[in-house]
Amino acid sequence: MTLPQEAAAARQETDEEFRARLREFFADHHPGRPPRDPRDRISWTKAWLATLFDHGYAGPSWPKEFGGMELSFARQVIYHEELERARVPGPLGTGLGIAAPTIIKFGTPEQKARWLAPMLRCDKVWAQGYSEPGAGSDLPSLRTTARRDGDEYVVRGQKVWTTHAMHADVFFALVRTGTAGSRHKGITYLIIDAHAPGVEVRPLRDLTGSRNFAEVFFDDVRVPVIDRVGAENEGWPLVRTSLGHERAAGSMNQAARYRRVVTELVELARERGLLRDPLVRDRLVDLEIRVRIMRYNAQRVISTILANGEPGATSSVSRLLITSFEQDLHEFAVDMLGPVGLLGKTAPQSVQRSRWLVGFLRTRASTIGAGTREIQLNTIAEQVLDLPRDPGMPPR
Ligand SMILES: Cc1cc2nc3c(=O)[nH]c(=O)nc-3n(C[C@H](O)[C@H](O)[C@H](O)COP(=O)(O)OP(=O)(O)OC[C@H]3O[C@@H](n4cnc5c(N)ncnc54)[C@H](O)[C@@H]3O)c2cc1C
Repeated sequence: MTLPQEAAAARQETDEEFRARLREFFADHHPGRPPRDPRDRISWTKAWLATLFDHGYAGPSWPKEFGGMELSFARQVIYHEELERARVPGPLGTGLGIAAPTIIKFGTPEQKARWLAPMLRCDKVWAQGYSEPGAGSDLPSLRTTARRDGDEYVVRGQKVWTTHAMHADVFFALVRTGTAGSRHKGITYLIIDAHAPGVEVRPLRDLTGSRNFAEVFFDDVRVPVIDRVGAENEGWPLVRTSLGHERAAGSMNQAARYRRVVTELVELARERGLLRDPLVRDRLVDLEIRVRIMRYNAQRVISTILANGEPGATSSVSRLLITSFEQDLHEFAVDMLGPVGLLGKTAPQSVQRSRWLVGFLRTRASTIGAGTREIQLNTIAEQVLDLPRDPGMPPR
């Protein structure tokens, strides 16, 4: 079957024609409003992601050989703008932005063939098992062990804060195969079947009351050696690659989303007669300037990945910008609304089903996940500004 983009490439489509084709596709196949029930929402999201893949509209930055679109820089920007404009669900799980670039760089041809397309189509949901109680910023201190037993590893230990673990099919995890004190020299990157005997997932509630992450326990879970990515004890370079991509992941999509959100906030201020207030105007102008800077920075991230294959330290700049911005935006929105801004979504006078309050609570964690604010600042200090190294930082 010839996919629409292949036909379009054959006749040298312009950027504007590409934008129009995407817009039409998203309108024609739009999945509608999300179901209220969380389990139904997962199936609904999966069905949408499969539709995107089957029509050749998944993975804007992915190589074509793994089912992606392999778009140029300008087209990736257009893709994210149109995706956001259409208000369709984003990826499920953390595999696409973090595990996939790592597997593309370090996986064997068999591993790429086995894992990448099903991940992109969302036949399998992937979740990241790096952090442990006692190993977050300092990942080299992780203690989950993997003991070799013939053609298998036997994994024992605990992960925590694993986003999407409750509906994951696969964990991409870091385990210790070296001695207890081997730090980053004894870490191995394993792909673990989330449904294997011995895996237990215990959901955790966050500030908003949702259950988006979990603790994951491995009690002698058997993992085939062929599911190891890279060599034994040599997982650290894979961690560096995947952390860079984690911080860069979604930067363009988030910049496009917040472009829309800032416009909606201005509209809310107008509706409530607050646009004449000079303090409100001042804060809105500040957010407008920052959302534009975020867009340029996201473009810088994409062009760095296209040029070097890795986002490098620009990913920390991007992460810092986005996380500080989304915290400030929601804090301002709640402030601007006054007491009604604090009402829960079931209260009759709540504003826009409490979206600003939920956003305020949700984004408290933004400057922790994917590396805390302090870790991003340290990375920028060392790798961009060439300042002296902090001995507390993990090795590069
Ligand atoms: C919403 C959310 C989703 C997450 N999802 C995942 C996931 O899917 N998978 C996963 O593996 N993990 C996930 N995490 C975990 C996240 O990566 C860790 O919380 C993070 O790396 C910080 O680790 P920690 O919580 O152990 O805090 P710690 O590392 O103990 O840090 C505590 C404090 O000390 C500071 N600090 C630590 N070291 C330094 C230093 N060298 N210099 C200056 N200050 C320092 C930190 O900035 C922080 O303020 C998630 C976290 C959140 C909040």
